[in-house]
Amino acid sequence: MVNPKVMCRQHLLGEHVEIHMFIGTINLQKKVNGYLEKGLLEIHNLYHRHEELVKEMKRRGYNHRSDLDEKWKYAKRLGKIDKIKNIRELSNRCTRCRSRISKETKY
Ligand SMILES: [Zn+2]
Ligand SMILES: [Zn+2]
Repeated sequence: MVNPKVMCRQHLLGEHVEIHMFIGTINLQKKVNGYLEKGLLEIHNLYHRHEELVKEMKRRGYNHRSDLDEKWKYAKRLGKIDKIKNIRELSNRCTRCRSRISKETKY
């Protein structure tokens, strides 16, 4: 849920891969409760978030050839991401993201 523009290459691509992994996991009917409980996943936002990340990836000239099934646009509402917590964690964990985040006055 962090603005993709402030994410470093590693984290932008990392989150993109995570979305595909979540979709794969859910497609296999496996449980993602742990992620839901920790506030790390919003099922109903996977499609939109993927689009957002891909837009930024293309803007930076990275390749993308893994579109999501349109059915995810209509996924039922499940999970709630703590946006502030996520931004804070990213900024604590990654110096590259931190310097990009601090340039963004929005946060
Ligand atoms: Zn993709
Ligand atoms: Zn980073």
